[in-house]
Amino acid sequence: MSDCIIPEIKESEEEIIAIRRYLHANPELSLEEFNTSNLVARQLEGWGYQVTRDIGKTGVVGSLSKGDGKKSIGLRADMDALPILEATNLPWASTVPGKMHACGHDGHTSILLAAAKYIASDSCQFNGTVHLIFQPAEEAIGGADLMIKEGLFDRFPCDRIFALHNMPYLPTGKFGFYEGNFMASADTVKITLQGYGGHGAHPERTVDPIVTGAALIMSLQSIVARNVPPGETAVVTVGTFQAGIASNVIPDSAVMELTVRSMKPEIRELLIRRIQEITDFTARSYGATSEIEIYDSYPVLVNDAEQTAFARQLAIEFFGQDAVLDSVSPSNGSEDFAFMLQQRPGSYFLLGNGEKGEKGGCMVHNPGYDFNDEIITTGASFFARLVENYCR
Ligand SMILES: [Zn+2]
Ligand SMILES: [Zn+2]
Repeated sequence: MSDCIIPEIKESEEEIIAIRRYLHANPELSLEEFNTSNLVARQLEGWGYQVTRDIGKTGVVGSLSKGDGKKSIGLRADMDALPILEATNLPWASTVPGKMHACGHDGHTSILLAAAKYIASDSCQFNGTVHLIFQPAEEAIGGADLMIKEGLFDRFPCDRIFALHNMPYLPTGKFGFYEGNFMASADTVKITLQGYGGHGAHPERTVDPIVTGAALIMSLQSIVARNVPPGETAVVTVGTFQAGIASNVIPDSAVMELTVRSMKPEIRELLIRRIQEITDFTARSYGATSEIEIYDSYPVLVNDAEQTAFARQLAIEFFGQDAVLDSVSPSNGSEDFAFMLQQRPGSYFLLGNGEKGEKGGCMVHNPGYDFNDEIITTGASFFARLVENYCR
């Protein structure tokens, strides 16, 4: 497949791999990507991009126009790492204990930089404007949403947008495209149950938030079983339940946190509404009161059919039919490029990082994961082809 790689991108491979390994060794968590975004901005400036810093706190946009064409395209990479203690023992392993590029965002940033260098060179011909979007805080907080709220698409209008994610368990350098609802919505729901504490020997003089909570947890399971139509995707997981410190004390309150996932906006609304109703009625039936907070919400990621077909066709044209996987399945994971896809038509696709048991075949968010440098030139060449073929 190497003959599908753009020669100028192949020439800069070593330089970009060095950047990727530097980023890997120096990971920064969500909204703390100061060093990373500074490196990105300096590289882009050196290649002649007009660079805007500090959009969405640490986000960077590099813009470049050629010709007098009016078309514009946005390409996005994420820059943040995860709060994980790395266990790879690689020479470029994280130098910061408890922080790690375990999702390959170091690789995504490097892929977009490799594309950026070529796009700015005289070898790359296009007619229009390209906006390279380096976003912070994909793993938490929602950096894409922050950038949009600071006028991302008003300041940098994009007709269409694209982003990729490396994917372990998929063969190295193979593309996965999916039209429609591809990644789940995610909401964190925190429920606080307020009872009335007292002596464990005299429950009749208390309102027990633990019993209330136990009943609530079981009732919440009925939402997926009894309210969501069979055949739809939905998850209601109670991930934490905290209450009490002694066997003979009935506590005042109990707190639980849920993650709620779905593949359709209307199912997401249904799940949230039923959680609110069941929590309210269950708490009251036990004499308690309840409070609900919803945060860290990511919408369903919806790939535009036309843009996805365009990208798939282009991948087949340049990399061959074999380079494009016949099918990839929607995922219950979530991805905040979904916010950008609510604003502009586009597509989010997968790039195989290596099959299980082979190089790159350790799952993301695992302490043993590493991004596979072999796919940098593939991803960068494809990003460049998207620009050249849309902005004609
Ligand atoms: Zn991740
Ligand atoms: Zn990721």
